[in-house]
Amino acid sequence: MNVFSHPEFDNHEHLSFFCDPETGLKAIVAIHNTSRGPALGGCRMFPYASDEEALRDVLRLSRGMTYKSALANLDLGGGKSVIIGNPRTHKSDALLEAMGRHLEGLGGQYIAAEDSGTSVPDLKIMGQHTKHVAGIVERTAFDGQPSTGDPSPTTAYGTFVGLKAAVKHKLGREDLTGLKVAIQGVGNVGYRLARHLTEAGAELWVHDIHQENMQRAVDELGAHAASAEDILLLPVDVIAPCAMGAVLNDDSIPRLKTTVIAGAANNLLQRPDHDRALKDRGILYAPDFAINAGGIIDVFYERTGASPEKVRAHVEGIGRTLAEIFMRSDRSCVPTGEVANTIAEERFRKHSGVAVASRERFSGAI
Ligand code: NAD
Repeated sequence: MNVFSHPEFDNHEHLSFFCDPETGLKAIVAIHNTSRGPALGGCRMFPYASDEEALRDVLRLSRGMTYKSALANLDLGGGKSVIIGNPRTHKSDALLEAMGRHLEGLGGQYIAAEDSGTSVPDLKIMGQHTKHVAGIVERTAFDGQPSTGDPSPTTAYGTFVGLKAAVKHKLGREDLTGLKVAIQGVGNVGYRLARHLTEAGAELWVHDIHQENMQRAVDELGAHAASAEDILLLPVDVIAPCAMGAVLNDDSIPRLKTTVIAGAANNLLQRPDHDRALKDRGILYAPDFAINAGGIIDVFYERTGASPEKVRAHVEGIGRTLAEIFMRSDRSCVPTGEVANTIAEERFRKHSGVAVASRERFSGAI
């Protein structure tokens, strides 16, 4: 298995491979870049078919976190961890405790948060052996509501703010009354986004593979139910994919009838060149890692401590970042995803000299 010559290797600073035969733990931690601060990212548990597949995922995802945190102007670097195994059958308290001990050994260079296959209770078990876990503290959220540590409400609000910035840029309107929006996936983030949009007067179409989630949006928010085949192809002002990645692809892009894509799901573009395909069709794409940064902002402030007002103000910065991305994309004819990558690189490369100071400031607040 190649590491330094791996296609996904991007000058990652640190890779750790953990094995604990007693508990069956096999895990990889990848720290991509810490120039802005310690690497924060989810701990994913998945039954990878091979070590190679796990390595590929952790290299790719950790790099993505560097870009997301830098673009969100957080004093954080990018990292990710993967535990190889089926979360339904291989997960045990002992395995999670072993993971916690390993994370402690990294001395805070990497901070783990919830991801697919792990939950807040799992992170709390790891947290018995390390202080380097995040997203587990009950507190008051950005909107003054009690929070369990689940970042979804903040992600949904950030997506709403970003969607408004996209609508303003593309459609020249700030009032959302009567705006037509189709949401794919009305789970933790999508449903809350739908609620913000309904309150702002938008008309919604929704689809969810879980019938009860879709029905809740229909009953409680007056949304129209749409089919799986139609939801992304409706002739609406905005498509908001909030379920899964790779939905913007060779099949869907030529058939889209919208002019704005603004949704929370990660990795929406199936391939990087789909960014250009959207621009060529005149569709404004709000890059996923810019618009869905509310969650990482929330987790950051959980650890450093901040008033709800400060968190809200930072989340609202997502709108300004997107406005800058859209403006630079228009001026340069470069697609929005590529512009977002460039801005993120400007933000994390510029910080190279302050890594240690930033890390100390962050750790001191734990
Ligand atoms: P969730 O599991 O609570 O909700 C996803 C919803 O999508 C579920 O209701 C599910 O039934 C539905 N769904 C799945 N496949 C579907 C399909 N093919 N068609 C229609 N609906 C489908 O997850 P979430 O926390 O709401 O996250 C949604 C997306 O946003 C994910 O891609 C996630 O990675 C991303 N995201 C979430 C956060 C966060 O704070 N939760 C932060 C950043 C990014």
